[in-house]
Amino acid sequence: MTARSSLAIARAGYRDIALYAPDRAACAIDLSDNTNLWGTPPAAARAARDTAAAALTRYPALYASELKEALATYAGIATECVVTGCGSDDVLDSAIRALAEPGSRIAYAEPTFAMVPVFARMNGIEPVGVPFAPGFDIDPDALLATGARIIYLCSPNNPTGTAATRAAVERVLDRAPGVVILDEAYGEFLGHGFIASAPARENLLVTRTMSKAFGLAGLRIGWATGHPSLVREVEKSRGPYKVSAVAERAACAALGEDLDWVRARVADARAARDRLASALRAMGLAPLPSAANFLLVPVADAPAVARRLRECDVAVRPFTALPGIGDALRVTAGPEPMMDALLRALREAVACE
Ligand code: PMP
Repeated sequence: MTARSSLAIARAGYRDIALYAPDRAACAIDLSDNTNLWGTPPAAARAARDTAAAALTRYPALYASELKEALATYAGIATECVVTGCGSDDVLDSAIRALAEPGSRIAYAEPTFAMVPVFARMNGIEPVGVPFAPGFDIDPDALLATGARIIYLCSPNNPTGTAATRAAVERVLDRAPGVVILDEAYGEFLGHGFIASAPARENLLVTRTMSKAFGLAGLRIGWATGHPSLVREVEKSRGPYKVSAVAERAACAALGEDLDWVRARVADARAARDRLASALRAMGLAPLPSAANFLLVPVADAPAVARRLRECDVAVRPFTALPGIGDALRVTAGPEPMMDALLRALREAVACE
């Protein structure tokens, strides 16, 4: 079968969505995906290793009930206010599918997490981007003016690293005609958020992940909090068996015994980020103010700079023509030797321009 005929089989409005394929060629120093570069939480690693072979032959729990209990304790809410998924990608996709009619709109400030417009289009929903307010706070009235059924907020936002103010988020929550999805994938680095208060509102779903601060991206564990009736709809859309037996055990161990490890790594990441920002400013660059574990650094011709960094075995994520920003590199904060290697390579790469 030719590529053309297989393309024509797919649903209209879906066929032209590209496969997610960022340049992931192996590099000695990979600062491209905002994961925890200080390693794996120890109790989680032990639990994954020790998962009995017998557990592998059986299906895991339908809706990861033990993990939901552990997450509810972490968030300080009731278990029925938590839903999990195969990464927060899965939770976002399931939520969009459950909460918006095909043909309706999802609005967000752009630039934001690149998968959101993709999930929208996969589910027959129209993505509508609006500009950020000056200083990269969200612009509540611009978001509300779209009349969108879902408003997606991301704070701290990927790829800018900037956080929305509480007042702006609350203005959206108080006036949104439909549901607000608040993506807090980087919430641990900000240090506060809405996971505990979400269940008190009927229109707010807050998503989190164990891929970033918790250092478990390989296990694909995402979750969300919200009012039980909202969470139930997302869980239905997500379907059963989405968290594997190994992932559930490791995640429960991390939430039980690794919280001090996670807190210490979050502190490391914030300190590394702030040191890196100072070093970049000393080079004449102007990273955006970040509340996450990464920095967005505007540069001319980001793909060319990223290519030259790759030649030095350093991977970063290049972006082109970001609304209100232009070209930029997104760089994960990591341990000092990695940051030193990045800065050395960047000095050479920028000098070549
Ligand atoms: N939301 C944001 C803002 C992200 O940056 C990411 C990962 N890059 C995700 C969600 C998805 O993360 P995961 O599926 O690993 O939980």
